[in-house]
Amino acid sequence: MYQTQPKILVTGGAGFIGSHAVLALKQAGYDVIILDNLIYGHRDIVENELQVEMIIGDIRDRNLLNRLFKTHQIDAVMHFAAYAYVGESVFDPNKYYDNNVVGTLTLLDAMLRASVKKIVFSSTCAIYGVPQDLPICEDSPHNPINPYGASKLTVERILSDFHAAYELNSVCLRYFNAAGASPTGYLGEDHTPETHLIPLVLLTALGKHEFVPIFGTDYLTSDGTCIRDYIHVCDLASAHVLALEYLLQGGKIEVFNLGNGNGFSIKEIINTATAVTGHTIKTVDYARRPGDPPILVGSAEKAKRILGWHPQYPNLKEIVAHAWQWHQRRQGSSFLTKLPNPTKHYERSYAALAQQVGR
Ligand code: UDP
Repeated sequence: MYQTQPKILVTGGAGFIGSHAVLALKQAGYDVIILDNLIYGHRDIVENELQVEMIIGDIRDRNLLNRLFKTHQIDAVMHFAAYAYVGESVFDPNKYYDNNVVGTLTLLDAMLRASVKKIVFSSTCAIYGVPQDLPICEDSPHNPINPYGASKLTVERILSDFHAAYELNSVCLRYFNAAGASPTGYLGEDHTPETHLIPLVLLTALGKHEFVPIFGTDYLTSDGTCIRDYIHVCDLASAHVLALEYLLQGGKIEVFNLGNGNGFSIKEIINTATAVTGHTIKTVDYARRPGDPPILVGSAEKAKRILGWHPQYPNLKEIVAHAWQWHQRRQGSSFLTKLPNPTKHYERSYAALAQQVGR
């Protein structure tokens, strides 16, 4: 059907999940071009490890997108570029709707102008809010409790409307908690600020943070801390390639959960990381973080059945071990000896919250 290998535009390809997807696409023989504004992405990863063409720019830049689609023969888009800090989204929703919704609309408009009608979209389990039943299936109620989840659900709705009106075909992949790193140790998670649990725990094991804040110890869970379903980033990447192939083979519109179906509490993550690293990891109990559902565990049976997806690294210890290998390597080359206190990122937010509730 295609004379040469299809060319895939990957927005946010210099970020954590995007970079792993770019590698998987390359390994599957696709021609890849990245669009990334490098606010959170890493130029060195693209230049040294991925070695694919990258355009530095923003998905909200309409002129840039129109030029990009004119000068490159794009067959399909994988769209990762988004803001993804749940806590921040509660206090700065404008930032989230502007980038995640308006930015995506701008991208879709440019795609339609260029008659590019296939997109794999990075969605999230945050669209479900506080689930009534576990594990969460794709048709479980969609009631996001934070603007991040709401912004992603809005895009899902837009994609459905665009399919009906313009025949734009899409696959939305609803990830549970992306974690781990490439087993080679050369790609991994490196956010600034880092607010995600597993990297923070491992950076604490490395002595870069003094402690891990535990946000909420009074949830109705086995040990009082939040439960999440951690999914290896390489398994997410392989699902993206399968979703793309589904579209290239004529697939129309689908949504899939991507998770392991197993939930782990924050304390279980810390225990696993202690076993993997051999280091003591200090924790400090904090109040609940706004926007956090107590338990998120997903069923990915649909992706397995329709896409033929088989996670290669479902074991939590292996997920943490791969992330540990990456962090040791990455931080070994870092000039920073200490990172800012991980609760710093939330200070402004907590102050705002305290004011709102009149404390
Ligand atoms: N969490 C925590 N301390 C941290 C970072 C995260 O207790 O320093 C908790 C967070 O409140 C949530 C879980 O760990 O319950 C996973 O959070 P993360 O930010 O890693 O992912 P999210 O679920 O928000 O996508």
